[in-house]
Amino acid sequence: ATFGNLSDRLADTFKNLRKKGSLSASDVDGTVREIRRALLEADVAFDVVKDFTGRVRERALGDEVNKALNPAQQVVQIVNEELVGILGGQQRRLEFAKTPPTVIMLAGLQGAGKTTLAGKLAKWLAKDGHTPLLVAADLQRPNAVTQLSVVAEQAGVAVFAPEPGNGVGNPVKVAKDGVAYARSRQYDTVIVDTAGRLGVDAELMKQAANIRKAVDPDEVLFVIDAMIGQDAVNTAKAFQDGVDFTGVVLSKLDGDARGGAALSVASVTGRPIIFASTGEGLDDFEPFHPDRMASRILDLGDILTLIEQAQQAFDEEEARKVAEKFATDTFTLEDFLKQMQQLRNMGSIKKMIGMLPGAGAMREQLDSFDEREIVRTEAIIQSMTPAERRNAKLLNGSRRLRIARGAGTTVTEVNQLVQRFEQAAKMMKTVARGGVPQMPGMGPI
Ligand code: GDP
Repeated sequence: ATFGNLSDRLADTFKNLRKKGSLSASDVDGTVREIRRALLEADVAFDVVKDFTGRVRERALGDEVNKALNPAQQVVQIVNEELVGILGGQQRRLEFAKTPPTVIMLAGLQGAGKTTLAGKLAKWLAKDGHTPLLVAADLQRPNAVTQLSVVAEQAGVAVFAPEPGNGVGNPVKVAKDGVAYARSRQYDTVIVDTAGRLGVDAELMKQAANIRKAVDPDEVLFVIDAMIGQDAVNTAKAFQDGVDFTGVVLSKLDGDARGGAALSVASVTGRPIIFASTGEGLDDFEPFHPDRMASRILDLGDILTLIEQAQQAFDEEEARKVAEKFATDTFTLEDFLKQMQQLRNMGSIKKMIGMLPGAGAMREQLDSFDEREIVRTEAIIQSMTPAERRNAKLLNGSRRLRIARGAGTTVTEVNQLVQRFEQAAKMMKTVARGGVPQMPGMGPI
C-alpha cells in the first residue's frame, strides 16, 4: 500500500522507543532522526520534514513527555498529532453554495484522475440526495468527452457535453453553458472537468484560469496523483499560482508509491485535502480525514472508515432483518452466504482489513490472503441442500462428505466453514443483544 514502507519504518522506530522506560535527550534525538529519515525516504518534502521533526523534537523534550506515565506512548501521540497537523488538521467538508447550483471545478495534470473523480464525486453526491450534472470542458484530449459520458452513465448522472468529434470547441464557453444549463434544469451541483497536460503548461493553465473566471466555482479541486513523487509539490505550487484551488484530492492512494509527496501538498499549499481516491472503480473514493489518515500511517487503524463503508455496503433494511435473525437464533447458512456476498461489495477485503489496527504487522499474511476463499465458501454452501442450509445441525459426517465432493473440496474445509459459521452466529447474537460489534463471515485470517 502507498504508505506501507513509511508505516513499517515508523513502527520499527516506535518499537525501539517502547523498550525504554524513561527517555533521555539522546533517545529523543535518535528517534527524531529515524523519523526524519523515514519521512524523507517516503518522499515527504524537505521543508515539511524539517518543520515536522523540529516540532516533534521540541515537544518530546518538554514536560508533556517528561511527566507522562508512559513517555514512549506519549511520543507516539505527539507524532500522531503533528502528522494530523501536516495533513490539514480538521476534516474539511465540501462546501455548497447558498443558492444552487454549487459549482465544482476540477483541475490537475492529464492522467491525474480528474475524469474518474468526476464520476466518483457525482455518484457520491447523488447517493447523498444531490442532483449533479457533469460538464465536459476537457476538449484537449480526444477521448475526454466520451470518457466523461461513460463515467456519467456508470454513476447514473447527467452529463453536459459538446457533440463528440466536433473539432476544437471552446472549453470556456462549454463550461459556462454547462452551468447555465444546470441552473435552468435545477441540477443542484455542477462538476466541471477541465483539460490537463502531461506537464505544467502555460496555455492550459491560462485556459483553466479562464474557466474559473467564467464559472466562478464554489470549489476548485486540484487532483493530484499520489504516485508522482517529489514532482507533486512543484505541480501543486504551479497550479496554485496559475489557477489556485480551494482543496486537494489525492488520487491513486491504492498504488505502491511512497506517497510522501502527497503528504506534503496540504502543508506546502495551505489548502486542505478534501477527498481521497483509492482505485479505478467509482466507489473507490472517500472524504479525507486527516486524523484517520494519520492513524492509518501510524498503523493505529482506521475503524471509522471501515464502519462507514460497511454501512454503505449493507442495506439497512437487510441489516435489521439479519440482526433480528441473530437475536432469535434463526440465522442460517443461507443468510451467512448472503452476508458474505454483500461483504464482497465492500470492495477488496484486503483493503478493508488493511484499515484494522495492527494490520501492518499482518501485512505479509494479508498479501497471501486469497479472496477466492469466499468463492470456495460459496461453492460449499451451494452444495448443501436447502434443508441443510437452513439447519446446520443436520450436517453429519456423511452429509459433509457429500458436500465436500460436490464442492470439489475436503471435509476439513467443510468442517472449518461450519465452525466459522457457528462462531459468527454466536458472536453476532451477542452483538444483536447489545454487545461489541464484529464483522461476520470474515473468518480467521
Ligand atoms: P484525467 O486525465 O485527469 O481525467 O485522468 P483519468 O480520470 O482519465 O485517469 C487516468 C487513469 O488513472 C485512468 O486509467 C484511471 O482509471 C486511473 N485512475 C484514476 N483514479 C485512480 C485511482 O484512485 N487509483 C487507480 N489505481 N487508478 C486511478
